[in-house]
Amino acid sequence: MSDCIFCKIADGNIPANIAYEDDRILCFHDLEPQAPVHVLLIPRKHIESLDAAEEGDAALLGHLLLKVKEIAARLGLENGYRLVSNCGADGMQTVKHLHFHLLGKRRLLWPPG
Ligand code: 5GP
Ligand code: ZN
Repeated sequence: MSDCIFCKIADGNIPANIAYEDDRILCFHDLEPQAPVHVLLIPRKHIESLDAAEEGDAALLGHLLLKVKEIAARLGLENGYRLVSNCGADGMQTVKHLHFHLLGKRRLLWPPG
């Protein structure tokens, strides 16, 4: 997707503070962190949201989810963390490229607003 900000980050066309990357996924620090640690995990493949994910994306999304514990450990989140994916209008999704917020290093409130 040529006009997608996260595709541009994945292609290296927009700079980001990268915490982890491999051939299928990328993790970078959020521009407006909501916690002392706030990174975004994305598939390199443009998928608009979880609503747009398909059966063929199962291995990719499984890979991403299984990397969370490794990235969390690297970022020092030994006391726990939260993983969130905002989807669609009611989910307040602002960037239409599937991403998971990984937040930690503070006690996070529940329920969210
Ligand atoms: P959403 O609201 O869609 O769940 O989350 C989008 C997130 O992307 C927000 O937390 C926002 O701060 C972050 N974001 C938006 N544009 C950029 C950018 O260009 N670089 C980085 N690193 N984060 C961004
Ligand atoms: Zn994209």
